[in-house]
Amino acid sequence: MSQLVVDHIEKEYSTPCGTIQALRQCSFQLDSSESLAIVGPSGSGKSTLLSILGTLEPPSKGTVLLDEINITSLSSSETIFFRRKHLGIIFQDHFLLPQCSALENVLVSLLAERRITKQDQERAELLLERVGLKDRFHHRPGELSGGECQRVSIARSIFRNPKLLLADEPTGSLDRSNADSIAQLLFELTQTEKMIFVLATHDPTVAQLSTKIFPLVV
Ligand code: ADP
Repeated sequence: MSQLVVDHIEKEYSTPCGTIQALRQCSFQLDSSESLAIVGPSGSGKSTLLSILGTLEPPSKGTVLLDEINITSLSSSETIFFRRKHLGIIFQDHFLLPQCSALENVLVSLLAERRITKQDQERAELLLERVGLKDRFHHRPGELSGGECQRVSIARSIFRNPKLLLADEPTGSLDRSNADSIAQLLFELTQTEKMIFVLATHDPTVAQLSTKIFPLVV
């Protein structure tokens, strides 16, 4: 059982035109299998909050604990290890490698570290089946639809069993019916993989499927 505790985080940016308050007093708590949809108008701080949770930006104030690891005070080598071990990230655009098959795209993050084992390959195949791409292992992104590519990127993001899955507008470039089925899949996987899932979305239909909604205002 994992727990994410976001405690009074704030983010300010210093710019030549003065200080910009990107995020004000933000606190929430989530357990494994729970999801939170960050909603709010453009400029309200959704991406900033996701960047802090993804250890890409430090907060100006406050702390974020994942299973009692304070992710806001990790060294750079600890941050790299933390991201690799505990985080999964899904973007609005899938960022798949066009020259690689669906299977290779799921396995790609391992290539820099070690040889791919039979177990790795089996897990990648299992995940591609779970996201509905049983017959598409060897197809390249150019041979897949937008929704299918996003399914590959979901399999890639959960390959290492992350404790925390982050998604920035994961259905933003999809049509209604693909957006609904991808959202459904993400919330199902949150339950079955016992992850904590935080997403930013403009889509009220998608937000309604999450356990909690966190509204931000400009
Ligand atoms: P959203 O994702 O909800 O559109 P953002 O998190 O991108 O909002 O931005 C929140 C606020 O912080 C905006 O006013 C934006 O201009 C500002 N901001 C974001 N990143 C930076 C940055 N690197 N430097 C200065 N201001 C920034």
